[in-house]
Amino acid sequence: MPQMIINGRKTDAISGQMLDVISPVDGAVFTQIPRGGEADVDLAVKAARIAAEGPWKEFTALERGRILVKLSNLILENAEELSQLEARDTGKAISSARNDIQVMARYFEFYGTAADKVHGEVVPFLNGYGVQVIREPLGVTAHIIPWNYPAQMVGRSVAPALAMGNACVVKPAEDACLSVIRVAELGLEAGLPSGVFNVVTGLGEEAGAALSAHEDINFVTFTGSNEVGVLVQKAAAEHAVKCVLELGGKSAHVVFNDVNTKLAVPAIVKGILANAGQTCTAGSRLLIQRDIFNEFIDLVVDEFSKTRVGTPEMDLHCGPLINKSQFDRVNRYLEKGKKDGLKILAQGQIDPGVPETGYYVTPTLFVADNHDSDLLMQEIFGPVLVALAFDTEEQAVQLANITDYGLMAAVWSENGGIQQRVAKEMKCGQVYINGFGAGGGVELPFGGVKRSGHGREKGLVALEEMSTTKTIIHYHG
Ligand code: NAD
Repeated sequence: MPQMIINGRKTDAISGQMLDVISPVDGAVFTQIPRGGEADVDLAVKAARIAAEGPWKEFTALERGRILVKLSNLILENAEELSQLEARDTGKAISSARNDIQVMARYFEFYGTAADKVHGEVVPFLNGYGVQVIREPLGVTAHIIPWNYPAQMVGRSVAPALAMGNACVVKPAEDACLSVIRVAELGLEAGLPSGVFNVVTGLGEEAGAALSAHEDINFVTFTGSNEVGVLVQKAAAEHAVKCVLELGGKSAHVVFNDVNTKLAVPAIVKGILANAGQTCTAGSRLLIQRDIFNEFIDLVVDEFSKTRVGTPEMDLHCGPLINKSQFDRVNRYLEKGKKDGLKILAQGQIDPGVPETGYYVTPTLFVADNHDSDLLMQEIFGPVLVALAFDTEEQAVQLANITDYGLMAAVWSENGGIQQRVAKEMKCGQVYINGFGAGGGVELPFGGVKRSGHGREKGLVALEEMSTTKTIIHYHG
């Protein structure tokens, strides 16, 4: 049975209570995890504090980096076991899970090799003064992780925090946390001192709420829903704790009439179906210039109709959704689309061999004739793509920016002027030109604007987010 990792030891919840973990593949309980609560979180934060101010502080940047690189290698050595855990827990196709584990390893490699490249500054100042700006860890960092990409998210969040010398307390999602526990175990094997990488499992409203409200954390990073993100930020604000939020998205593809269809069509279809649409950056809106709308959408329909949904072992385009509530929510949106008068242009197929009790939904491509529907304004978090025509560049930009979200966008055009102008006008954190998604994007600064959140992860900028500066001003005459 999976256990939490607190202060370097595998442990059950103090209460002794467990939570059932349901498999999305067939809706059956397949394991149990400890139901950690306030007291467990408190133990983990205390262990992290002692580590951050004790043994971990003595490690040089080079030594921290080497441990992270060793952890990356251990992840690669155990990649198949981790991939199987991830696929079983989340329901995703086994090849996607394998890819996620490679990306997780890459995070620890990237930040491990960057740890000793973070330099301070010497600032010119008044005569007689020397000024150094040095980087320091924040202390105890809290990481609240969602269920859609547990392995990638823990790598993205924990690797830069550890590289900068922080000690972490991770609260993974109750729906999918097995790979997170396993990587913390591997962290100990790689040489992380006890208390540096803690994992407390449990319910969001119990363990997650206790962690974000804990008075002795110095930073919290949260990925998940807007509603909970706001709660986490409020709780952190009670103790003036810095917060990075990575919330939802409603990313738009903007397709101009000179599009390279060979590049665009497969990327657009993959961009919504990856992880069954349960991706914050999912390209869920397809804006197409009116004069090519019919010919372009026909190509998308062809590609979309080939989509197959199945179990992880079937290794098809999509797996099931994570749980019953997500399944009900996506089905409600499908009904709403029909009620709002949107027309279904194409659907994928669920493999007849999947268990009837699993959470499989049919990938669906709608077309709308205006942008008013909830299906175009709200994050669905499922394999649902909605297409809409636009006339001018100006209108395309206005529609792309119309939602409350601002995470990612894509511009499809061969015209350099359009590419640059539209990319610059997009209100979001990342814009692709003639592409969408590229590997894990570990090296690329990432995050949202508007209701998609604030703060940045990935890339070298995460090292700044997860550390602070100290300015030393020396008057030497
Ligand atoms: P959620 O926000 O409820 O859960 C995300 C994480 O927060 C989990 O670890 C959960 O245990 C924790 N949590 C829940 N309540 C908490 C609380 N009160 N205090 C602190 N932590 C808490 O997300 P969900 O219910 O699993 O999914 C709902 C919606 O969230 C999805 O439909 C989707 O729109 C969005 N979502 C977005 C992302 C993303 O990558 N941006 C990921 C997952 C979910």
